[in-house]
Amino acid sequence: MDVGVFGGTFNPVHLGHLRAAEEVREALGLERVWFVPSRIPPHKAPDGILPPEVRLGWVEQAVAGNPGFAVSSVELGRDGPSYSVDTLGVLARQAGPGRRLWFLLGVDAFLEIHTWHRVDDLLSQVNLAVMRRPPHDDPVRPPGPLRDVLRPAPGGFRHRSGTEVRFVPVTRLDISASRVRAALAAGRSVRYLVPEPVRSAVEAWRAEHPHWPARSES
Ligand code: ATP
Repeated sequence: MDVGVFGGTFNPVHLGHLRAAEEVREALGLERVWFVPSRIPPHKAPDGILPPEVRLGWVEQAVAGNPGFAVSSVELGRDGPSYSVDTLGVLARQAGPGRRLWFLLGVDAFLEIHTWHRVDDLLSQVNLAVMRRPPHDDPVRPPGPLRDVLRPAPGGFRHRSGTEVRFVPVTRLDISASRVRAALAAGRSVRYLVPEPVRSAVEAWRAEHPHWPARSES
């Protein structure tokens, strides 16, 4: 069966991430969705981005109990820049030859994908599940530089290598990690924005690190 790959900062993971991944998993019949927290080296991390091991630990707590979800630390063990094409290459090898990979991303990211490192290699090795949030369902065209290699196909586009770009509608939950951080910084509740175990963990982290998140960072 196919597998999904959901990359992000997850600073922290929230219910918007989890619900979107669950809906894509169901819509595409994926065996599993791998959450892949990005590394972001400490010297490059904008203020307020917590160490990757902390963000990864929270994602592990968030997905525990869902056999359709798993967490990969593949980005954490690598030095140098974390390019999606490299991460996906490693995950494709780990998944094995019989499995197709679907990379989950939002429409905004899809419209900028031509600027990504080695985009043609990326599009040749994985399928894209582009999450759309109704009511925003105007037709989406591939970004200009990719119009020759992505041709219209049922549900989206087909890359010249044969991989697919599929649009998947997901429920719009207006939650973002920035919003969660803003609530924490203001001393407000984050209940029902993040899963309960993550709420306990982020509140404990804040109790021990009162400067996170600073109001200006969130
Ligand atoms: P921040 O507010 O710090 O920018 P974020 O909530 O957007 O963070 P990221 O870790 O940057 O979270 O996002 C990882 C992926 O999850 C991105 O592809 C993003 O588009 C998607 N995403 C974030 N929030 C939602 C949501 N509420 N519903 C669906 N997808 C989401």
